[in-house]
Amino acid sequence: MSDVKHETVLVYAECQDGRLRRVALEALGAARLLAGEGGSVHAVLAGGGAGASAGEAAAELAARGAEVVHVIDDPALAQFAPEAYAAAIRAAAEAASPSAIVLGHTAAGRELAPRVAAALGGGHIADVTAVSLTDGGGAVFTRPLYAGKAFEQRRFLPGVTQVISVRPNNLPPAELAEDGRRGDIRALAFAPPPLWTAVRDVVRRTSGRIDLAEADIIVSGGRGVRSAEGFPPLEALAQTLGGAVGASRGACDAGYCDYALQIGQTGKTVTPKLYIACGISGAIQHLAGMSQSRVIVAINKDPDAPIFGVADYGIVGDLFEIVPLLNDQFKDLLQANG
Ligand SMILES: Cc1cc2nc3c(=O)[nH]c(=O)nc-3n(C[C@H](O)[C@H](O)[C@H](O)COP(=O)(O)OP(=O)(O)OC[C@H]3O[C@@H](n4cnc5c(N)ncnc54)[C@H](O)[C@@H]3O)c2cc1C
Repeated sequence: MSDVKHETVLVYAECQDGRLRRVALEALGAARLLAGEGGSVHAVLAGGGAGASAGEAAAELAARGAEVVHVIDDPALAQFAPEAYAAAIRAAAEAASPSAIVLGHTAAGRELAPRVAAALGGGHIADVTAVSLTDGGGAVFTRPLYAGKAFEQRRFLPGVTQVISVRPNNLPPAELAEDGRRGDIRALAFAPPPLWTAVRDVVRRTSGRIDLAEADIIVSGGRGVRSAEGFPPLEALAQTLGGAVGASRGACDAGYCDYALQIGQTGKTVTPKLYIACGISGAIQHLAGMSQSRVIVAINKDPDAPIFGVADYGIVGDLFEIVPLLNDQFKDLLQANG
């Protein structure tokens, strides 16, 4: 199998509320690695009426190594519609003729990547957590299987347009380019396709909170939290650490918190730097969503709880005593360190 050299790699720069998501910069980092010294990186920003914020996002992409940023601003893109966004990426692909396209493996990315790959007659490697280059400059993509119990490494066959979706929080974001470059920011026209579905309204339940999928630190509560009133100490700890609050399905089913916080097989998949599981037993379905976290701390009063099997640090005890203690200690430490 010969190694593939990329002349141009295209990044779909996903935004939320007009701002670049961090995974967009992680995708850009992967694209720069794939393009190497000789290749170039293009990015596509798509939205409806984003105006000034699109300008800021485009400038940031350019400063971090995108040589060309294609900006598609069209009313059809005001709300997320997979057909329209996939068509926008295809329009950028027509302009850039990339041999590879990189997206975030987010809720949107999961919808878009296979559509784009199918439309371009290409292949898709999903949920990539690591990219490495062979001696010949080709790429090997690592992805977890069976809820993180195994990993596989995949390569594309030569001649295939490569579509890669990268799991948030796993790859380093693109650094600022050393030469202080500004990039070429271009408006790109596109003809929206007929839509099969339309989003009429978006009702937000977690506004203002840190996105769980991109959080560096997550403090998560389970049925051991006992009630909705049990969550504020976890929220306080998350706030001290600049993190987000998550939950097990047990806690969500019991009505202690919103399903938007659920982590696991039927919830969100997260890979924070630090995951603090409070009163969570560690059922296989919960581990499916968090076992790839870099450091796992478990607080549980049952020393035989399965969560200790995946934890790097375990505290056997009552979360209602330990969580406030941890919060006080972290506050003191953070204050002492300025
Ligand atoms: C198809 C399917 C999909 C599922 N998807 C998911 C999913 O996405 N996410 C998910 O989480 N689950 C999922 N589940 C449910 C999963 O099997 C478990 O039922 C659930 O994870 C249990 O939640 P829990 O750990 O909070 O509760 P429990 O298993 O009841 O554990 C509570 C823990 O809290 C500890 N505890 C109690 N009081 C305290 C205290 N004061 N201090 C410290 N510790 C204390 C207990 O020792 C216990 O270990 C799924 C199940 C199925 C069948």
